[in-house]
Amino acid sequence: MKIGILSRNPRLYSTRRLVEAGKERGHEMQVIDTLRCYMNMATARPSIHYKGAELAGFDAVIPRIGASITFYGAAVVRQFEMMGVFSVNESVAITRARDKLRSLQLLARKGMGLPVTGFAHSPDDIPDLIDMVGGAPLVIKLLEGTQGIGVVLAETKQAAKSVIEAFMGLNVNIMVQEFIREAGGADIRCLVVGEKVVAAMKRQGAPGEFRSNLHRGGSAEVIKITSAERRSAIGAARAMGLNVAGVDILRSNHGPLVLEVNSSPGLGGIEQATGQDVAGMIIEFIEREAKPNRTKTRGQG
Ligand code: ADP
Repeated sequence: MKIGILSRNPRLYSTRRLVEAGKERGHEMQVIDTLRCYMNMATARPSIHYKGAELAGFDAVIPRIGASITFYGAAVVRQFEMMGVFSVNESVAITRARDKLRSLQLLARKGMGLPVTGFAHSPDDIPDLIDMVGGAPLVIKLLEGTQGIGVVLAETKQAAKSVIEAFMGLNVNIMVQEFIREAGGADIRCLVVGEKVVAAMKRQGAPGEFRSNLHRGGSAEVIKITSAERRSAIGAARAMGLNVAGVDILRSNHGPLVLEVNSSPGLGGIEQATGQDVAGMIIEFIEREAKPNRTKTRGQG
């Protein structure tokens, strides 16, 4: 098969591993810089041009779209779908997962366990919002944040009010969430590929840090997840319509709570912590699923 990897950087661990895993299985692999794809939209025969030539003959693409280029990246994936090329994750699912409020609303609708979460626009509603999510301590998150940046723990109601006011003053969107203290600064990253959890790791924040992000100095180890956690991870990926997803789960006193569903999960941390060949499993998923015109939406919606 001819498989494209939509990635801005061929040297990234995940990109390199996908190329390697594909070649090992006898496929032709090409890394395509998403931002160098350009398209003639107004034509009955959709096509993509790349560095002066037309991209042709692809059976599948693996989108690795960074948060900062979601808008353009989703349009490129959509164009591939319109050409009948199978995309491991569909453009609509990628944009869905990138919108944190929309994701939580979708997950709630499917009855998934979530931390109590609120959001508001007006500073006048802050005191009520804080009460609504159960008072302090609470976690305040920038909607546009990634890798733990813009995630703040406020221990008291007064601190929470000040931080929320400061963020609102900067005109950024935030959400306010109950603090799951019993998670102990750890979360569980489940890698879902085609309705299966193929690898899971526990990430533990550095001492004194409630955020477990590896970018914030956290450490990772392989973990055996419970069947409830497995169900949550698979259910969350399915609710978002993602075939490949990184689902982050907090262990709470009342069961697993889904924190986030990532549509381009990094492979480095999880492959190293678990020893699993996740890249190989993504390629095998493509081998099973990638038939021409097999995408559900073909770029519609
Ligand atoms: P990002 O998308 O920037 O990584 P997250 O929402 O995943 O932001 O938060 C970063 C980390 O902070 C999580 O991995 C988790 O360890 C911790 N965390 C986030 N929300 C909560 C919460 N409500 N209760 C306890 N810990 C949390």
